[in-house]
Amino acid sequence: MTDGTFKTPLPRNEPVRAYAPGSADRAALERALAEVEAQRLDVGARIGGEDRRSGDTRDVVMPCDHAHVLASVHVAGAADVVDAIEAARAAAPAWSAMPYAERAAIFLKAAELLAGPWRMRINAACMLGQAKTCHQAEIDAACELIDFLRFNVTFAEQMLAVQPESGPGLWNRSDYRPLEGFVFAVTPFNFLAIALNLPLAPALLGNVVVWKPATQTMVGVHHMLALLREAGLPDGVINVVPGDGPVQGQAALASRHLAGVHFTGSTATFRALYQGVAAGLDRYRAIPRIVGETGGKDFIVAHPSADVAQLATAIVRGAFEYQGQKCSAASRLYLPASLWTALKERVLADMADLTQGDVRDFSNFLAAVIDRKAYDKHVGYLALAKDTAHVLGGGGADDAKGFFVEPTFVQVDDPKHRMMQEEIFGPIVTAYVYDDAGDGWPRILDTVDETSPYALTGAVFARERTALVEAQTRLRHAAGNFYLNDKPTGAVVGQQPFGGGRASGTNDKAGSLWNLTRWVSPRSIKENLSPPTDWRYPFLA
Ligand code: NAD
Repeated sequence: MTDGTFKTPLPRNEPVRAYAPGSADRAALERALAEVEAQRLDVGARIGGEDRRSGDTRDVVMPCDHAHVLASVHVAGAADVVDAIEAARAAAPAWSAMPYAERAAIFLKAAELLAGPWRMRINAACMLGQAKTCHQAEIDAACELIDFLRFNVTFAEQMLAVQPESGPGLWNRSDYRPLEGFVFAVTPFNFLAIALNLPLAPALLGNVVVWKPATQTMVGVHHMLALLREAGLPDGVINVVPGDGPVQGQAALASRHLAGVHFTGSTATFRALYQGVAAGLDRYRAIPRIVGETGGKDFIVAHPSADVAQLATAIVRGAFEYQGQKCSAASRLYLPASLWTALKERVLADMADLTQGDVRDFSNFLAAVIDRKAYDKHVGYLALAKDTAHVLGGGGADDAKGFFVEPTFVQVDDPKHRMMQEEIFGPIVTAYVYDDAGDGWPRILDTVDETSPYALTGAVFARERTALVEAQTRLRHAAGNFYLNDKPTGAVVGQQPFGGGRASGTNDKAGSLWNLTRWVSPRSIKENLSPPTDWRYPFLA
C-alpha cells in the first residue's frame, strides 16, 4: 500500500544513436544482427501466459534476402481468439485495480530496458525483419517506442489530473475507468513502435487487449513480448493472435465484449473493420470506440520562392527513406515551372548517389520493400509510369535475392493522374510541374487539396511568408501533419502528434493525450458532504 499524489518522471525524447564506423554501438549492433540472423524462431499465439502453436505457419523472411527464413509464425484460429478474449477478461479485474503509478512503473521499466540492454536486439530484429537501415530501425524500434512508453505515462498522468470543480458542501471527482471488455489492436508491418503502442496505450489505462500484429513484424514482436515480461507486465493483459487478418478480425468482432478497436494500417482494412463493428452494433455490450490511422498520399508543394537545395533534399529523404514505406512518405510533388530545370537536375544528381542493398551493409541508404506482394504492386506502378508518364530516374526492380525496387522519379502531365492519387507505399515519387505565373500558386493549392482522398501529411516550401500563410489556409484540411520548409516524414512523439483526416483515419493523434482519452470511460462521482434533510425548497414558503 502506498499513498501520495505521485509525479511521473519528466519525459525527454530518446537521443538517436549514430552507429558510426568503429563505435561501440556499431559493434554491439553487428553482434545482435548476427544473433538474430542465426536464429530461426518458432512463434505463435500468446494467450494468458501460454504460448500456442497451431501448426498452420507462415514464414517471416528477410526482405533483403528472401531465401533466409527468420521465423515460422503459427497462425491463430478463431477458437484461439475466443480464448484470448477470455484470458484478457480474466486478467482485467486485477489489472484495472492496480494503482496507476504501479502500472506506469511497468511502462517506464520497459522504456529503460529498451533504451539499455534490449536496444540492439530489438533494432536488429527490426532491421532484418522489416528491412530497415540501422538509422531507420533506431528511430523506430528504439527511439519512437521508448518515447511512446515514457510520454504516454506523463500524458495519462495529465489526463487523470483533469478534475471537475466542486461547489460548497460538495466534492466532485472524475474516475477514469478503462473500457468494459477488451480492446482489439490491429497493427501494420512498417513501424514496430506503432505496433507496440497500439496495444500498450490502452493497457496503460487499465484496459486488456487482444492484439493482431502483422506477420512481417513477428520477430520484433517476439522479443518485445519477452522484454515486457521482464518489465513486469502481467500475463493476460496483452494477448497476441498472429495471422493474416480476416479470421482473427471476424472472431474478435463477433465478441459481445469488444470495447474498442485500435488500428493502424491501410484505409481498406480499416473500413472493413469499421463496417464489421457497425454491422454488429446490436450484439455489443457497449458501443465500441474505434480509432484508426490509415493511408496517405502525402504531398510537397513548392512556391517559386522555395530554396532548390532544401526542396531537393526534402524530396529525396521524404520519398525514399525506408523505401517510401512510411504512411507519411512524400508521394506527390507540385513543383513550379520556374524552378523545374534546376530542381530536376538536383534531385537526379542526388538520386545517382543513393546506395541500395542489404541492411547488413551499413553503407546502404535504401533496402528492399517488405514482401512479394508489395514488390509486385510497385512493379505494376513502374509499368504504369512507363506507359503513361515520364520516368526521369530509376524505374528498375530486381527480386533475385531480395525485393529491391529502385528509387524512382516520375513526371506526369495530368495533375489528376492515378500516380498523383493512389497510395503506392514504395520508393516511387511523382511530380507535376505547374505554371507559376499569375494565379498559378492559389490554383495549384486548390489542386493539391482536391486531388487525393487522403489527408495525412503535407509540406510546403516557400521563402515568402505570404505564400506560407496562403498554403496553411487553403490546405487547412488537406493534412493532419503539416510541414513548413521541412519534409513530411519523421514526426516525433511529444513534438508533432501524428494522424490525419479524410480517408487517412480518425485523427486521434497517436502518442498524445488525445489518443489516450479514447481508452477511458470517465465516471463522474458527486459526493454531498452535507446532504439536505428537508424536501421543501425555500421558495415554497
Ligand atoms: P494492412 O491494412 O494491409 O494491414 C494492417 C493489419 O491489418 C495487418 O496486421 C493485417 O494482417 C491486418 N488485417 C488485414 N485484414 C484484416 C481483417 N479483415 N481483419 C483484421 N485485421 C486485418 O496494412 P499494412 O500493409 O500492414 O500497412 C501499410 C498501411 O498502413 C499503409 O496504408 C500505411 O499508410 C498505413 N499506415 C498508416 C499509419 C498512420 O499513422 N496513419 C502508420 C503506419 C502505416
